[in-house]
Amino acid sequence: MAFKINPDECVGCGVCKENCPVECIKMEGDKCFINADECVECGTCAANCPASAIKAE
Ligand code: SF4
Ligand code: SF4
Repeated sequence: MAFKINPDECVGCGVCKENCPVECIKMEGDKCFINADECVECGTCAANCPASAIKAE
């Protein structure tokens, strides 16, 4: 399983980046991206994304 941000749905609010416990989300331009190598799959980002842009695959 891996958490992924859909760039077509991300509105660039930064909420996921602010709340990730291992700080593995980076903002590039107006989109956020998850570093899968560091993600501990806690699900916090997906639970708090206002655009529901983060899915577990
Ligand atoms: S919380 Fe959702 S909409 Fe906001 S930056 Fe993260 S992925 Fe994008
Ligand atoms: S699932 Fe948890 S560790 Fe992974 S990117 Fe989201 S908040 Fe960070």
